[in-house]
Amino acid sequence: MVIIQGIGIAPGVVTGKARIWKGKPLGVVGSGAVQAVTTPEEEVRRFDGAVSQAVLELKDLMTILGPEDLSMDILDTHLELLQDPQLAQDVSDKIQAYNLSAQEAFLEVLQHYVLLFEAMEDPYLKARADDIKDMGNRILKYLQQAPFPTQEEASFQAGTILIAEDLSPTDVIKLDTKVIAGIVTQKGNSTSHAFIIARAKGIPTITGCGSELDQISDSDFMMLDGGEGKVFLYPTKDTLDLYAGNGQATQAKVIQLTPTVAVSNNGKQIPVMANASGLEDLDRIWAYGAEGIGLLRTEWLFMSKDRFPNEEEQFELYSNLALKSKGKPLTIRTLDIGGDKPLPYFPLPPETNPFLGYRGIRISMDYPGLFQTQVKAILRAAVFGQFRILLPMIATMEELRWARKQVSIAITSLQSSGHAFESSVPVGIMIETPGAALIADLLAREADFFSLGTNDLIQYTLAADRMNEKVRQLYDPFHPGIWRLIKSIIDQAHAAGLKVSMCGEMAAHPLVTIPLLGLGLDAFSLNPTDIPLIKNNIQKTPPGLAEKVLANLLKMDHAKAVQSYLKEITT
Ligand code: PEP
Ligand code: MG
Repeated sequence: MVIIQGIGIAPGVVTGKARIWKGKPLGVVGSGAVQAVTTPEEEVRRFDGAVSQAVLELKDLMTILGPEDLSMDILDTHLELLQDPQLAQDVSDKIQAYNLSAQEAFLEVLQHYVLLFEAMEDPYLKARADDIKDMGNRILKYLQQAPFPTQEEASFQAGTILIAEDLSPTDVIKLDTKVIAGIVTQKGNSTSHAFIIARAKGIPTITGCGSELDQISDSDFMMLDGGEGKVFLYPTKDTLDLYAGNGQATQAKVIQLTPTVAVSNNGKQIPVMANASGLEDLDRIWAYGAEGIGLLRTEWLFMSKDRFPNEEEQFELYSNLALKSKGKPLTIRTLDIGGDKPLPYFPLPPETNPFLGYRGIRISMDYPGLFQTQVKAILRAAVFGQFRILLPMIATMEELRWARKQVSIAITSLQSSGHAFESSVPVGIMIETPGAALIADLLAREADFFSLGTNDLIQYTLAADRMNEKVRQLYDPFHPGIWRLIKSIIDQAHAAGLKVSMCGEMAAHPLVTIPLLGLGLDAFSLNPTDIPLIKNNIQKTPPGLAEKVLANLLKMDHAKAVQSYLKEITT
């Protein structure tokens, strides 16, 4: 038996057979597996087919956005580029002359165009290189038809443990939990979205195993302990027996401890809600005792599609959610793409610092049509449930005002549409940028609630990229600065009469429940599997303890001291 120690990301003990996946996520010009060449005629047909699909997708997007959208001019240019007969001719010539695959030929032609435009003096023409890359990505997506998981997953056997260098959120969102028993990767970080999704789906996951994974081959029998981060290759019978006993005991204990009613501390009701990954796992979420959905990342819903869902489709999605939720509160976050969350059909320009770049509300402001579609669908579905709208990546007052104005525009437009809708849906904001934290008092005047997005708030406050393993030790929820900042946000919100919940992964950390109660946090939202644990922590905190612990913690000057102290008081 070989034991590989990694970092436990999602708990659970499972056995299964290894399946090595070496694919690369799609999304950048030039990436992805090159398909084998068939005949030149077939390759030309494949190229034409990919262009037609890309054109349809773009036209669909333009219909959703509507003619008033600010991005319409750009999209018109992209459509023209896609349909340029010269492009089709160049690719066809390359295929015939050099017996290349459609993808290889297209990449060569694309490269040539990009270089040509990048070398131009005129800044306007120079900037067109980005449009060409964008158009290229649209076609490449259909040409590459990424081999994973669409084709490869079909051949996975039940009980597969996926072994990969790294995984993208798009890869994980499509994994079938009936087939994939566990995930082990070389690289990754607990707040990367691929792993947040794995946790939400309840797939035991281990990361940070590095090159140790090279010793694993396809079909090797293995066991994972996702909580402890241990990978057992060819586990002995003794190890299997030991884990079988422990696993059952822990499971039984957790279920027994799950309070079915809202928990309270010092007489205050503290709802513990779920961060949902999709509609299919709602039954599982309620079984864990969730008292609502505190965060629905709609970009995840959109990731498993091949184009943006239109208003009717989104209305159906959200109203299904309402019907399955039986009156529980539902917080729908508007699209937060960018960072590590690209949509395969919405290429974003390559960026040096994507997390500090084009994401969340910033993209929405460039595509008001997309935002309108989503808001209208939510307002219509809100007739069937208790919805709240949550805005991601707010850093300025203007962004909040823009979004609220858009909600008013959506209401006016719905009034003349004849559709039933709810006009008084609360609009809240994620506090996940230090800029927003510092003007929390001002934002609190115009927002209806706050949700603390600590995954981002910590990375921005401590300048430690949440995806960068090299700075993992700096990305630390115990840092005294994080506590001061959260305290200040909650105090400012409460002074304005606003409630604050936390939906970042920090909310699920068992060591911080007590001081968060001390800060007066009003609600928690976390991955469903940890709900029983956190509810239990809240329930068993005796009156007065949380405030005392917080006061002591705030006197400490470094993260290690905070962590040791919290360990001491929780054991
Ligand atoms: C966060 O930043 O804490 C958050 C919940 O948003 P996301 O992880 O989707 O960026
Ligand atoms: Mg965030």
